[in-house]
Amino acid sequence: MAAVNIDSRMLNNLISSIKRWRKPASKGPRVIARNDHSISRREISRAALTVMKRLQDAGYQAYIVGGGVRDLMLGGHPKDFDVATDATPEQAKVLFRGARIVGRRFRILHARIGREVIEVTTFRGHHSDGETHEAKQSEHGMLLRDNVYGDLESDAMRRDFTVNALYYTTKGFEIHDYTGGVEDIEKRLIRMIGSPEVRYKEDPVRMLRAVRFAAKLDFTIEGTTEAPLHELAPLLRNIAPARLFDEILKLLMSGHGERTFELLRQYQLWQHLFPDNAAQIEANNAALKLSQQALRNTDQRIRADMRVTPAFLYAALLWPAVSTEQQKLIAKGTPPAPALAQAAQKVTSSQLAHTAIPKRFSIPMREIWDLQQRLPQRGGSRAQRLQEHPRFRAAYDFLLLREESGEIEAGLGKWWTDFQQADDEQRQQMVRKLQRTGSGGRRNRNSRGRRRKPRAEQ
Ligand code: ATP
Ligand code: MG
Repeated sequence: MAAVNIDSRMLNNLISSIKRWRKPASKGPRVIARNDHSISRREISRAALTVMKRLQDAGYQAYIVGGGVRDLMLGGHPKDFDVATDATPEQAKVLFRGARIVGRRFRILHARIGREVIEVTTFRGHHSDGETHEAKQSEHGMLLRDNVYGDLESDAMRRDFTVNALYYTTKGFEIHDYTGGVEDIEKRLIRMIGSPEVRYKEDPVRMLRAVRFAAKLDFTIEGTTEAPLHELAPLLRNIAPARLFDEILKLLMSGHGERTFELLRQYQLWQHLFPDNAAQIEANNAALKLSQQALRNTDQRIRADMRVTPAFLYAALLWPAVSTEQQKLIAKGTPPAPALAQAAQKVTSSQLAHTAIPKRFSIPMREIWDLQQRLPQRGGSRAQRLQEHPRFRAAYDFLLLREESGEIEAGLGKWWTDFQQADDEQRQQMVRKLQRTGSGGRRNRNSRGRRRKPRAEQ
């Protein structure tokens, strides 16, 4: 008897053709032919092309999808390319040496080609199709797991916005558009696929993504996509703080932070991300200016290819609350230094309930705050030693920001600017002058303290 050799892929194909047969005939995609769009394969990374080719050679479909296609159509340079395929993660894994399956909510394959990692996702399906794989929903309608596989069309319907659901294939070099994404790119609109309310409930982070893409691409959020934002904003409280932290970085540290901040406030999403900041900027104009200026500086640094750190940004966003809390404690008789430490502790732990802050950022954040207390104290050898503190540069930049925002009077920042530019002799004179005018803070009782070699500016 001849062995019947059906592998799981054939079985999947069989199941999906039966499902297709049961479903009403779809209109099919709008196909944009090679000559009618501006994407050229030369703009796609070699790694992404390799991944597509290897999948296709093994008999699977493979498309570039998401931000890569969207940004190319807008004439930008995508930061990465994602590939969608009908191969399951396990089927795709064997095609790439050292590939790893990651994720739980969405299982995806990380295929490594040279130094580049390409994310390979299996076409998602509609949940009603989920006999063989799993999808799980919480009581709020939130998707906890979404590993129901499907075909290209159902995959398009499971994506968030129409502009993110365009598929490019090197077979014929066409773009396949199931949701009107090409038209929305032309109209510069962020439009949710399906019912915005249902899709936000499935995954509230989509609210943040709508704002992120609107700010980044300078698009408008289409009316029905925008309408539920207000009401559903509190659902952000159900998102794990670690995921929100990742999302905050994409929102605020991708070069469009100031605009994103404005939109997040406009849609009342901000108060669910940074409640202490939201309360402060309501009440106090310097707090608003400090937040805006910190984000503007971050945007400018990113554009200039300079290093940015979440520690600095978090320090700025939370400082008004820390400072207010510190003043309260001082008024009750706590000395300034312990008052600052207590205030920092309180505000940090309240923020942690909303967005995680990994230790590698929260420690420098608190050092930046701590140094604000020490920057006025420049007597004896203090100024010299402070300048050698690994966090001095960030703390000095932060001080300038506070002055610019009007939180404190200008003057100390200028002193530190001059001090950094001065030679040894001039520095000694600057410090002596302070002592004469009595404005150098407490006298340094430990002037024999450690003397380290001045380190290069950071
Ligand atoms: P970026 O340029 O920021 O990388 P992107 O569009 O590529 O933008 P990713 O977060 O990399 O965004 O996601 C890749 C694609 O996966 C998206 O374009 C979208 O089609 C889909 N996607 C991502 N997150 C979601 C989500 N929460 N809900 C539905 N679809 C999503
Ligand atoms: Mg991407």
